[in-house]
Amino acid sequence: MLVVMKAQATQEEIQAVCEHIEQLGFRAHPLPGAQRTAIGITGNQGEVDRGNLEALSGVAEVIRVSKAYKLASRDVKEEDTVIRFAGIGNHPDAAIGGRNLAIIAGPCSVESREQAFAIAELVAASGAQFFRGGAYKPRTSPYAFQGLGVEALRIMAEVRERFGLRIVTEAIDNETLDLVAEWADVVQIGARNMQNFSLLKRAGQLRKPVLIKRGLSATLEEFLMSAEYVMSEGNYQVILCERGVRTFADHTRNTLDLSIIPAVRRVSHLPILVDPSHGTGKRDSVLPMARAAVASGADGIMVEVHDHPEKALSDGPQSIYPGQFAVMMDELEKIAPVVGRNLPRGIRIGAGAA
Ligand code: PEP
Ligand code: MN
Repeated sequence: MLVVMKAQATQEEIQAVCEHIEQLGFRAHPLPGAQRTAIGITGNQGEVDRGNLEALSGVAEVIRVSKAYKLASRDVKEEDTVIRFAGIGNHPDAAIGGRNLAIIAGPCSVESREQAFAIAELVAASGAQFFRGGAYKPRTSPYAFQGLGVEALRIMAEVRERFGLRIVTEAIDNETLDLVAEWADVVQIGARNMQNFSLLKRAGQLRKPVLIKRGLSATLEEFLMSAEYVMSEGNYQVILCERGVRTFADHTRNTLDLSIIPAVRRVSHLPILVDPSHGTGKRDSVLPMARAAVASGADGIMVEVHDHPEKALSDGPQSIYPGQFAVMMDELEKIAPVVGRNLPRGIRIGAGAA
């Protein structure tokens, strides 16, 4: 159920409607939009009696939301969600969603301070505003590199200060969620955890943006229901990320499903990024798919970059070289205006040098 407030409704009226909903034993989710505020109601098993709600002051109408996902739906919030990040030092503000494309770049895993700093410097020089790096790695083999853990989080905190890059890193369970939330700007929930509902609920209790990667075989509705889990707990800062799904095709690691971008944008207000690294598993496919993702309406790209991919402790074959990342940024900057977007390049430390 959704309560649509009148455009001129006051904060007091919105508050009173929320309190009324809570008194009925439900949860109220006020979602301000450009024209008016809508209040989502969750926690109800059946129909909520709309009569009483419609009589409250400031209420325009009460609508039944028929889709399984509610807070993630455009029925509840018409405008695209834009997640904003304050500037770091003299580095400008950043956003995920809206007109500006968001670029998240860095290694699959943080392997050492030297490695993280070298890659961060290069991606910052090309204008990335977000740095990715795994501290806790969900690996298929228990014998593969599992990540440096807290040490990696500390290294990335230094990267943040030194290069003005916001940190995106994955939490793999409840324990690492608290640590990641303490250090990172965006908490990543990986593809393998997309339906770890207890982890999603806990991420919903954070007041930090959460980036959810599409599960290996998740449908659009299952993907949006994962976002709904986080939002139903009161955290509305959710970012979706397409990263390929498992199919019979074996020329790539996964099949990047770019057709989900317009599908998501049609039914949800949440930003959607594309990860062409995991989506293809092949370095040579990353740039073409990044171009296609932006052309298809993605809100940004998450990409793995490594200065020595042949020595990488994880995902070397799909990691692009810093030089390729620079080319990717130049290309995306040109494609962006064709689809009504802009690629902000941040403060490009070292840019123009040599
Ligand atoms: C990653 O981003 O490094 C990662 C493990 O991604 P995914 O969960 O999409 O496999
Ligand atoms: Mn990886």
